[in-house]
Amino acid sequence: MRSYSARSVEAYEKIEQVGEGTYGEVFMARSRDDSSLVALKKVKLEGEREGFPITAIREIKILKSLNHDNVINMKEIVTSKNKSSIYMVFEYMDHDLTGLAGREGIKFSIPQIKCYMQQLLTGLNYCHLNNILHRDIKGANLLIDNNGVLKLADFGLARSCALENSRALTNRVITLWYRPPELLLGTQAYGPAVDTWSAGCIFAELLLGKPILQVRVSSDARLPRRAKARGRASNSPRVPNPPSSLFLGFFFLKPQGKSETEQLDLIFKLCGTPSAEDWPGLHSLPWAKTILPTKKAYPRRVQEVFRRAPPSARRLVERFLTLDPEKRVTARDALDSDYFWEEPLPCKPGDLPKYEPSHEFQTRKRKQEASRAQEERARRAPAPGAGAGYGAAAKYAGYRAAAPLGSWAAPAAGGMTASWAQPKKKDEAE
Ligand code: ADP
Ligand code: MG
Repeated sequence: MRSYSARSVEAYEKIEQVGEGTYGEVFMARSRDDSSLVALKKVKLEGEREGFPITAIREIKILKSLNHDNVINMKEIVTSKNKSSIYMVFEYMDHDLTGLAGREGIKFSIPQIKCYMQQLLTGLNYCHLNNILHRDIKGANLLIDNNGVLKLADFGLARSCALENSRALTNRVITLWYRPPELLLGTQAYGPAVDTWSAGCIFAELLLGKPILQVRVSSDARLPRRAKARGRASNSPRVPNPPSSLFLGFFFLKPQGKSETEQLDLIFKLCGTPSAEDWPGLHSLPWAKTILPTKKAYPRRVQEVFRRAPPSARRLVERFLTLDPEKRVTARDALDSDYFWEEPLPCKPGDLPKYEPSHEFQTRKRKQEASRAQEERARRAPAPGAGAGYGAAAKYAGYRAAAPLGSWAAPAAGGMTASWAQPKKKDEAE
């Protein structure tokens, strides 16, 4: 990394904004040297009293230490003329999985789903072998280029889990819908299994064509972007985030808000309410005593929900959605499962269909524009019987329910990663 003589961002010509997260804006840009396309991710310096944010240093350090086909490659760091803005420069990727899946008319074939999952797990296995936890696996952070290559991106919440720094970790990581039960029960000692739960949610979503554990977030949790930037995760309750000091941390080690509790309910409704027999470490989890007695006993329904999936896919979903992290399948073992080795085999990335560029940000914007236009049309010329809109929606809902296995139906408004379902603010993640 050219840390002392970073080039100017003028070396790139900005084309358009392609992303916007908790952390900053992402632009598509073209290199003035060789015309190649890149993505510029702005490092947010707003409100930083102590110079360059430690989280960005961590993200850059981790990105620099990783080198794999299925992990995004950071090319360099550049600064604005007066050095007030800093950008990470990445190879440009045409799609993110949420953006691609949410596009009208896109259906993934079974070999295609296998191909994406195989690449996701290969990248994840590489990170885990290098003791890196990603901690924010979700569709918007899985980038896909037009050669069908999928790469893990957004290491803004990642950290090393090597034994030498085995400090208590924050449990407020991973976007709520992809957050595993052990984090929702307050564990601060966890490992790669947190990421494989999220990967399992993506797999289940690819199989069913819709998100599987999508809790509704209470309205007070839908905070404006400004509040998010000030440090509250948008799906967090209005309690302070746990400070890093262990002493103070003790007082803040309490169960989370309504949305987190409801998320756990959803998980138990699908995966069954666990007992100490299924999950021996269950009762020693920090919030087990407070939360578990309030939970109903639900039976496990994974087999039933995925009954239309082939047996090998069903077996693999079962292994991903295992509540006890000790028993959950690892990325490596998942890659060895029958699912990837029986017909139809995963296709080669190069054989995947080519699509128009699509990112979650753009897909969301397109949908918002389309629904605004529709509202406008309805306002101007109300249809006879005024129920036409609902009729269309119901028809669409029916289509979704009947969508063939292994094909995507457009996710519900907001997609897999609505902006309010974000994890803890990156600056405070340990
Ligand atoms: P954040 O922390 O803001 O979520 P990300 O790194 O996830 O940051 O970037 C936000 C979005 O920007 C991604 O979901 C993706 O759509 C887009 N994006 C990020 N990196 C790239 C890239 N290398 N190429 C193309 N688009 C990208
Ligand atoms: Mg992101």
